[in-house]
Amino acid sequence: MPRSQLEVNVPAWNGRRAAAALRQVKAAGRRERTPCVLCRQPIDYSLPSTDPDGCTVQHVKSRKLFPHLTWSPSNWAPAHKSCNSSAGTGENPMEPGVEFEDW
Ligand SMILES: [Zn+2]
Repeated sequence: MPRSQLEVNVPAWNGRRAAAALRQVKAAGRRERTPCVLCRQPIDYSLPSTDPDGCTVQHVKSRKLFPHLTWSPSNWAPAHKSCNSSAGTGENPMEPGVEFEDW
């Protein structure tokens, strides 16, 4: 793969791709009973991702600092929606163009 593809033109985290990533993270988390990566408490994977205690995708390495890892499954981890929203990891759910509610 050309190096340039890793550094430019990273699709935004939204829409169908993000929804598919969430399904993947939830399926793996449910299977392995993975706790929240942020608060380390269990996640109820049966809750919808619109629930504050539901599962959302947390980027272990910030998308701002590591944009080329946005779509790397190894950089995804499950986190409560409420934890994800308040995480001090450089993630900003309110940044323009990122539609966290668009599941
Ligand atoms: Zn949590």
